[in-house]
Amino acid sequence: MKDRTVHIKSFGCQMNKLDTALIASALQAAGFQLTDDVKEADAVLINTCSVREHAEERVYSHLGHLKHLKEHRPQMVVGVVGCMAQRLGDKLLEHEAVNLVCGPAQIPQIADLLREALAQASRRAVVTENIRQGRQDSDAALEEFESTYSAGELPGQAFVRVMRGCNNFCTYCIVPYVRGPEACRPPELIREQVRRLADAGVRQVTLLGQTVNSYRYQSGGRTWCLADLLDMTAHVPGIEWVRFVTSYPYDQFYDEIVQVMAGSAKVCHYLHMPAQSGSDHILRAMNRHYTAKHYLELIERARAVVPDIAVAGDFIVGFPGETQEDFEGTVDLVREARYKNSYIFKYSPRPGTTAQKRLTDTVPAEVKQQRNVELLAVQDRISAELNRTFVNQQVVVLVEGPSKKQVRNAECGMRNGGSSDSRDRSIIPYANVQLVGRTSTDHIVVFDGSPSLAGSFARVRITQTSPLTLFGDLQP
Ligand code: SAM
Ligand code: SF4
Repeated sequence: MKDRTVHIKSFGCQMNKLDTALIASALQAAGFQLTDDVKEADAVLINTCSVREHAEERVYSHLGHLKHLKEHRPQMVVGVVGCMAQRLGDKLLEHEAVNLVCGPAQIPQIADLLREALAQASRRAVVTENIRQGRQDSDAALEEFESTYSAGELPGQAFVRVMRGCNNFCTYCIVPYVRGPEACRPPELIREQVRRLADAGVRQVTLLGQTVNSYRYQSGGRTWCLADLLDMTAHVPGIEWVRFVTSYPYDQFYDEIVQVMAGSAKVCHYLHMPAQSGSDHILRAMNRHYTAKHYLELIERARAVVPDIAVAGDFIVGFPGETQEDFEGTVDLVREARYKNSYIFKYSPRPGTTAQKRLTDTVPAEVKQQRNVELLAVQDRISAELNRTFVNQQVVVLVEGPSKKQVRNAECGMRNGGSSDSRDRSIIPYANVQLVGRTSTDHIVVFDGSPSLAGSFARVRITQTSPLTLFGDLQP
């Protein structure tokens, strides 16, 4: 029988990207073939995100498109996986296009579920009941799945989850309701996984957790914290760079993490530590356990030990009750923190969260939009200033591959039937193309070079900058 083809579409954060990569490798191992072309797929899986309403709207719009496709191909199976599957469960089966609903804790069963759906044209939802009480029996299955099917999206790089779930219950956030409570993975299994990845050619590992710096594990008569994991990972032969995301502004073990960064050439000088707001009153309403002053002190402490550390932040604008004065507190914090970049989101009420149940969404949509634009403009000016200091410097980057623009142009060139056009150079393996790489401080660098450099380190001299990107020339 011919291999069944599966098309996978992924939305959301790095956790989701990792789940998508694991699903893809598990399906391939089970005899499925992956396809980029949704029109030729026997099955389509959508790995979903529930963090903001907009993310869910995009999934519904995609499902609408699949419903049309199914009018011509009724046998096609559509599965919804991940956070939205867990949140909505069998309600998603009410959508005409959907055959299968699979929560994040049921991902290890995905090949069997898909086979069953394809063979029996069944419609089924498999999610965890009462996820807030834990993932019940699924942690052991998740651990085995994770250890068997590690996979990286970019050449030479891989994500390694060190913990699942979150115990924090920030009042706006859906994550604890769809991913369940915090559970840390044993350090021995993480080490084994990193070793296997290094043997397979991985050079950079990113340790992942919703609040990765709260990692704790009792093993060998001691408590392991994130600093120990970073040190352990940096010592695995073949691993050159180690990163970690996302950090919560906690005091505990913070200095240990910064010290490991300063002491190891392999631990990247990059800290993604969301602040969410610069107003103490809003931080309290968000159930974030720090003040703006304390947050800034944490950054100062990191810079005192690692002067070139690049810091990235997350912010929510328009949280219920946010006044103009509260917002100005956030602008002040962004100015003082001098982030490399910030991810700025408009508050989106999520069903079942404390903020959605107890607080009124008081800030009008147009004010949220205006604050979003204003904060981005402040951040852009800082990013532009910081980036200009790179001009004439040489930086080392891990090359990700051809830039998106390059790939788009090449595809466009192919569709237009061109081959001598400079736009489709990326299909000639030895010609130079526009490449993208990242420094250890997570700065994006664009330069021309051979696509064969993907997955390796390169030295680039920076000639120009923009708020988001450094541009330069490859050095011999
Ligand atoms: N675990 C990380 C942390 O604690 O910062 C990030 C989790 S969340 C997937 C990523 C970001 O989405 C958050 O830092 C927050 O800024 C944003 N976010 C979460 N819930 C949101 C909501 N209801 N509305 C708008 N933005 C939200
Ligand atoms: Fe959500 Fe807060 Fe947990 Fe981050 S720490 S995942 S924002 S509840």
